[in-house]
Amino acid sequence: MIPKKYISDLRVYEPGKPIEEVARELGFDDIAEIVKVASNENELGPSPLAAEAMREAIPEMHRYPDGGAFYLKQKLAEKLSVDPENLLFGCGSNELIVFLCHVFMEQGKNLIMGAEAFAVYFLANALYGGETIRVPMPEHVHDLDAMLAAITPETRLVCICNPNNPTGTMLPPEAIDAFIEQLPDHVVAVFDEAYFEVMPDAMKPDVLKHIRAGKKNIIVLRTFSKAYGLAGLRIGYAVAHPELINLLNKVRQPFNVNLMAQSAALAALDDVTHMVETREMVFQGLEFFQAELPKLGIETVPSGANFILVKTGNGREIFEELQKRKVIVRPMDPYGLPDYIRITIGTPEQNQLMLDALKSVMADKS
Ligand SMILES: *Cc1c(COP(=O)(O)O)cnc(C)c1O
Repeated sequence: MIPKKYISDLRVYEPGKPIEEVARELGFDDIAEIVKVASNENELGPSPLAAEAMREAIPEMHRYPDGGAFYLKQKLAEKLSVDPENLLFGCGSNELIVFLCHVFMEQGKNLIMGAEAFAVYFLANALYGGETIRVPMPEHVHDLDAMLAAITPETRLVCICNPNNPTGTMLPPEAIDAFIEQLPDHVVAVFDEAYFEVMPDAMKPDVLKHIRAGKKNIIVLRTFSKAYGLAGLRIGYAVAHPELINLLNKVRQPFNVNLMAQSAALAALDDVTHMVETREMVFQGLEFFQAELPKLGIETVPSGANFILVKTGNGREIFEELQKRKVIVRPMDPYGLPDYIRITIGTPEQNQLMLDALKSVMADKS
């Protein structure tokens, strides 16, 4: 066999391990005792309305889903004040990133991203042989001027993750508007807003207003995986001008979003209570860590998402020590941040267990 060289050169991406696997490896019997705060999941669980909708959908599972996601598009369009033609659903918003690279990237073309931003942009780009330009992030924040300056005639995509995973940092809404004004026509700007729902209101960007006004070369990505608590179902969406949506539709498999996911997402959009509780849990948890960690001499990075980047020193070792204490976080060496770990905000009880475990690790080290 003769694979494409740029494919055979790739390494297989390692996601956070499922809780069961960690339990097996470390010999823990009761997975209920493990605190997994590694993947920015919603520790409140799925919306109860979504759970009920899933149960109701079971008898329909012999059917293919609606490939056009008609009802979901209608409902979401209304909620976002856009047209259904502005929307496209993906098997997670990760799939939409792959669609964007499928449409725009190839050898000789480049994608621009922040040096400490979400790895999937690079990984999806590599699938199509594109080059990735990584722009440094002073104070862990995207430098929009430097990203504009990095654009070449071969640039096709610029990815802006706001709030950024894994740093949690946000951009001022005015800076985003100014960036969009200066964006050259040959480049598509991708605004990944995976954590939009848990952002402080004053920091929420309004990229959708530019799309409503007819701007063609920008796209917003959101997901049901984080605040909505439906990561296991794999559903996310894109908002863009219909011309761009149509391009992405050309590379989409007809039934990319399953019926269970569509049913649950439709119900989750109505669950205002679950969203309010989720936001409260996140705000409370961020405050807790921002108050408690500095007392241990540990720096935190200001976050607008449901996780926090924490400078423990030797993040890989801290990750391993925490794991022995039944707490799973994410070491940040793959992001070029070897001194950091990323902690997902959990319930108050989980946050306390997390803090206690970290205290125990620090005590044993000193
Ligand atoms: C979690 C995440 C996503 C997408 O997740 P899906 O589960 O594929 O919807 C996209 N972007 C960022 C920055 C994320 O953190």
